[in-house]
Amino acid sequence: MKELYYELMVYAALVSGYPMPDVLPDVYFVEQEFFNETICQGIKKCSIVGWYIDQSDAEKYKEVKHQDVYINNIGHQFSTEFTNSVIVHEFVHFNQDLAGLMKRNPEYSDEFRLEYKAYYVQNKYLKKNRAAVQSCPNFAMCVSVRGGVFQ
Ligand SMILES: [Zn+2]
Repeated sequence: MKELYYELMVYAALVSGYPMPDVLPDVYFVEQEFFNETICQGIKKCSIVGWYIDQSDAEKYKEVKHQDVYINNIGHQFSTEFTNSVIVHEFVHFNQDLAGLMKRNPEYSDEFRLEYKAYYVQNKYLKKNRAAVQSCPNFAMCVSVRGGVFQ
């Protein structure tokens, strides 16, 4: 798993243009209820699939830790490719945080631009890997064989 996360981070860093971090965030796969009870605060149908914990989230929700990544287990209903793309999306947020871009300013929020970039990298990842993932049982191997990520 660590090797896969490393490859996803290399991709996130290359495409986003943020520097490759020295450490990877911890990634936790959690149940739907976790999101219902934390970020959606009791709303039954919470549609979050991935969550990066920035400083303000860590202060607001005692169940989570700054710089962790939570992935909804509902992702298993989708393809490996989709789940990995969500991890890539959250890794972009991790890099934005390390770059100091997530400090909240009540008068000016950059949130939209940060989300746009995370979705841009995620969509690029989906487009790039769709064919290989469908024809290869080992995703990490496919990416390496194709040379895409390590070029
Ligand atoms: Zn996002």
